[in-house]
Amino acid sequence: MSPAEVLEFAKKNGVKLVDFKFVDLLGQWQHTTMPIHKLKVETFSEGFNFDGSSIRGWKAINESDMTCIPDAATAVLDPFIKEPTLSLIVDIADAVTHQPYVRDPRQIAKKAEQYLKQTGIGDISYFGPEPEFFIFDSVRFCEGPNTSFYKIDSKEGRWNTGNEEEGGNLGYKPDYKRGYFPVPPIDSQVDIRAEMALTLEKLGITVEVFHHEVATAGQAELSMVFGPLVTMADHTMWYKHVVKNVARKWGKTATFMPKPIFGDNGSGMHCHQSIWKSDKNLFAGDKYAGLSETALYYIGGLIKHAPAILAITNPGLNSYRRLVPGFEAPVNLAYSSRNRSAAIRVPVASSPMAKRLEFRCPDPMANPYLAFAAMLLAGIDGVQNKLKPGDPMDKDIYELPPEELRDIPKAPGSLEEALEALKKDHAFLLKGDVFTKEVVETWIWWKEENELKPSRLRPTAFEFAQYFDS
Ligand SMILES: [Mg+2]
Repeated sequence: MSPAEVLEFAKKNGVKLVDFKFVDLLGQWQHTTMPIHKLKVETFSEGFNFDGSSIRGWKAINESDMTCIPDAATAVLDPFIKEPTLSLIVDIADAVTHQPYVRDPRQIAKKAEQYLKQTGIGDISYFGPEPEFFIFDSVRFCEGPNTSFYKIDSKEGRWNTGNEEEGGNLGYKPDYKRGYFPVPPIDSQVDIRAEMALTLEKLGITVEVFHHEVATAGQAELSMVFGPLVTMADHTMWYKHVVKNVARKWGKTATFMPKPIFGDNGSGMHCHQSIWKSDKNLFAGDKYAGLSETALYYIGGLIKHAPAILAITNPGLNSYRRLVPGFEAPVNLAYSSRNRSAAIRVPVASSPMAKRLEFRCPDPMANPYLAFAAMLLAGIDGVQNKLKPGDPMDKDIYELPPEELRDIPKAPGSLEEALEALKKDHAFLLKGDVFTKEVVETWIWWKEENELKPSRLRPTAFEFAQYFDS
């Protein structure tokens, strides 16, 4: 839609309010709302100012004026605000210079798309993310000088089979790692997922399939049809927003935390990706598994830079509790067409148009704009430098003898390791000024000061279990 069409669309739908949404550095949507009469055609070019000083990782208070510039192409009716409301995603510019704000993740993702074109390698990059999540009935957590605990509950939790429940315990709770994907009554959340899927479709986001996922206690996945990088990052934001808010309507709570439950699968965000030029899929070819040489170099780039990329695609302390052997999470940085234990899988494609690769490390805690941009830049670096990815790993990596396993590079074992890798390896992110040095340094600083260092100071319940009787 053009700005004029957006205003017409609002009028036709009796819209009373307009809600502007933007993403902060860490990946959380922020919003501000106005009466619809404040929205004019000029607003789409001139924007409006706000104080960005208390947005995480953004400006200092003395230089905090920022400008929101709405993107008319993102106009939809907001599905959750009671009064009829138009929703627009905005880009952030510096209020003084009117230049794109360097720390706005959506501007970074847009620069990644432009850089791909500048390189001449391709003109569009497609992403198909698959965020997984849990729908719980209750979560409690608390931390302080003399306490630290969390307690999750779910009617579906396998741990509740022995409980007395109101009206009798009716059983039918998916066993650990057995949630993929028996019919109801074991799957008790199909109506909730259906409402999530249909809400996404109303927003113009096409859903391919939705189902219960492997873990007990309500793990789920909906998959969206792939699209261009920035569009799919926008759609991923809507996806998370819809999942959380529909769950809330049902009296449930949804989380994209990568590993909320000990001893069962965590939630990943596998990312399918390909590069196209003049309507031709550059990843289809006559090399391994129907891939092109370009695709193999792209894999080479992803594998080489994976430890650094993971500081962005797997950005939390909790991310690395998922990236452990035995829970379908890829810890070995290899590629394969056959098995899902490799970090990069080449799915069987019905036609050359559908040829793509799937990077399986990322998790849905990631800021999708930064995550997709980082993966694309790693892939571009691989293509530019003709980085060979080595031989494919067509055996089940989990079953390999130790001597063979030793030679396969590994994903970082912790956020600290990933941040150390990013400190050493980020020149590929700075190309085309996509991520600036300021953004990389701010990211590392934020993660160290607000997550890593505080986590070192806190004893855990596990430590009490192990050490109290010392
Ligand atoms: Mg899945």
